Amino acid sequence: MGCNTQRIDLHIHSTASDGSLTPQEIAELALREGIRAIALTDHDSMEGTKQLLETGLPEGVELLSGVEVSAAPPPAGTRKGSLHILGYGMDVADAALHRILESQQAARTSRIPKILARLNEEGIAVAASDVESIARNRVISRPHIAQWLVARGFAEDLDQAFDRYLGKGCPAYVGKSRVPADEAIARIREAGGIAVLAHPGLVPVPDSGGYDRLLIELMSMGLQGIEVYYPEHSEKEQAFFERMAERLGLLMTGGSDFHGDLNSKVRLGVGTGNLHVPYRLYKNMVDKLNPTAA
Ligand code: AMP
Ligand code: MN
Ligand code: MN
Ligand code: MN
Repeated sequence: MGCNTQRIDLHIHSTASDGSLTPQEIAELALREGIRAIALTDHDSMEGTKQLLETGLPEGVELLSGVEVSAAPPPAGTRKGSLHILGYGMDVADAALHRILESQQAARTSRIPKILARLNEEGIAVAASDVESIARNRVISRPHIAQWLVARGFAEDLDQAFDRYLGKGCPAYVGKSRVPADEAIARIREAGGIAVLAHPGLVPVPDSGGYDRLLIELMSMGLQGIEVYYPEHSEKEQAFFERMAERLGLLMTGGSDFHGDLNSKVRLGVGTGNLHVPYRLYKNMVDKLNPTAA
């Protein structure tokens, strides 16, 4: 098999956010599945990447440092909701990037008691210690609460827990802290990284021209790539974003958004079955990060 046909996965969650596998378990799984390069893109955290850099990777698996930042759309766009900005290749010790990630983590921690209070108002007696034991002392996010709701029979599966209680517009929904998009991009860039718009197909835009306006605005802030290959993108969307990346001169990236047991429909490297992100995209990113070494 030529190296261009080998696959990579640049969108993965570990136990440093809302994934169920540890960074080491993910690296071993990548080795077993023949995935040649990975990036742990935990929500607002680089701890998983740090751990892997400290413990080292199995031979045959390469790593780009990663993060997925929950960002607020630019003010000029009147859209609501979040944009997820992926960062790749940052210095994991960068102080300014750490400050915004730490404030995001603090906001996450203070959000959980509010969600639990809402559930209690709904007659669901859930205590902090219940969800803490599910998250096993790690940062608690909504999927952990969803797991508890499923375990206690309040929902049949995680999707239903979101649909009934935790999702936007539902009784226990509490808004999330978001970093302004320009700030997220600037901190990633200043930490030496590449800033990429995650899963553009999930970003609501008023019409197909809306993507051009959004991307041009984000590019003016320093955005350098878009996640073209993603399990929830249809073939049509994938082709649309490929053309858009070529036209605008953006790097193309891709990944499964693996969460382990916290989203059992998605498998590492292959997503829901058809995902194939070629190794050459990883090489393009490494060349962009180290232009002189290319
Ligand atoms: P939080 O970061 O606490 O707001 O939780 C958001 C996370 O919940 C996302 O990153 C997804 O991993 C997960 N999620 C969002 N919607 C759903 C859903 N409908 N079903 C299962 N998981 C979801
Ligand atoms: Mn998640
Ligand atoms: Mn995302
Ligand atoms: Mn993700």
